[in-house]
Amino acid sequence: MKNRLYQKFNKVDLTPYNSMRIESIADIFIVPINQDGLIDAMRDFAQKKTILIGNGTNIILSQQRYRSEYVFICTNLINNIYCCENQIIASCGAKLSELANFALSKSCIGFEFLEDIPGTVGGAVAMNAGADGHSINELVRQVTYFDIVNNEVKQIVDLDQIFDHRSSFFKKKRLAVIETSFECKKGKDKNIMKKIFDYKKKRFSRQPREFPSSGCMFRGVKVNGQKTQSRQVSEIIKTLKLQGEKIGGAMISEKHPNFIVNTGRATGSDCLKLVRLCQNRAKKELGVNLLCEYVII
Ligand SMILES: Cc1cc2nc3c(=O)[nH]c(=O)nc-3n(C[C@H](O)[C@H](O)[C@H](O)COP(=O)(O)OP(=O)(O)OC[C@H]3O[C@@H](n4cnc5c(N)ncnc54)[C@H](O)[C@@H]3O)c2cc1C
Repeated sequence: MKNRLYQKFNKVDLTPYNSMRIESIADIFIVPINQDGLIDAMRDFAQKKTILIGNGTNIILSQQRYRSEYVFICTNLINNIYCCENQIIASCGAKLSELANFALSKSCIGFEFLEDIPGTVGGAVAMNAGADGHSINELVRQVTYFDIVNNEVKQIVDLDQIFDHRSSFFKKKRLAVIETSFECKKGKDKNIMKKIFDYKKKRFSRQPREFPSSGCMFRGVKVNGQKTQSRQVSEIIKTLKLQGEKIGGAMISEKHPNFIVNTGRATGSDCLKLVRLCQNRAKKELGVNLLCEYVII
């Protein structure tokens, strides 16, 4: 019998695997031990609805139970990071904080804004995560991914058309990011540390870290078919006086109007009702479309 590089678990509580801490059960939950295990699992479960989970910091679990037609594949053990010829190579499950601290240890600049984003490399590449005017695509040089439809491992270096604001070709086509190479430009350790510190301080003062959340609910606004970016969203929610609005255990944060927080036992449905409430009121009263950033599973 084949020596499997992944482990299959049944009836797994997903609460620790999503940062909103929504309670839900996955009938099938797979944990690959390395990149080959991830590819094997994707191949073995190709006939099912496979859902990749990195650190679960941008998802809303809309169902209380995911029966066996769904297969959750968690990448948290695939977390290797190393340096090779002026590039940093990171596996999909490596945490962004570890990537930023690894870059610091090699005196590489440009990764500072990633340190406080709580996702993994795979999730961040799929979502084109970013902060403070920077996005991860600025640093990416090559991505190795698995294409489940064609059953192939592929590499992409021509990245011009791949990334969008908080989205990517990998997210739209449901491709599994396996490994990413990043540019490594040298700088001064003290300046790198200072930038990380400043980003972290600013974010902690603005974000409701005392509650579970999945980060920002909207990635931007569409007005007359034109997209604008997320800065305006908080102003819109403030104008609509929706801060503090609660449905079940979910609440629009008082501290950061673009965050939904879990104040108790929020369900996915509570969170999605708040998302729709904001969208409906913004459309009706201000004529703008708010674009949801969460991945709804
Ligand atoms: C407190 C807080 C602050 C945040 N701040 C920011 C911020 O400043 N900027 C920002 O952009 N985001 C922010 N986020 C959201 C989130 O951390 C990022 O989007 C992050 O990159 C998601 O990574 P993840 O590993 O948690 O992805 P998950 O939430 O696990 O998954 C997100 C999506 O990516 C897919 N995915 C996961 N792994 C892979 C893979 N290997 N290959 C292909 N697809 C994959 C999933 O299937 C899902 O569709 C914040 C979240 C929280 C809770």
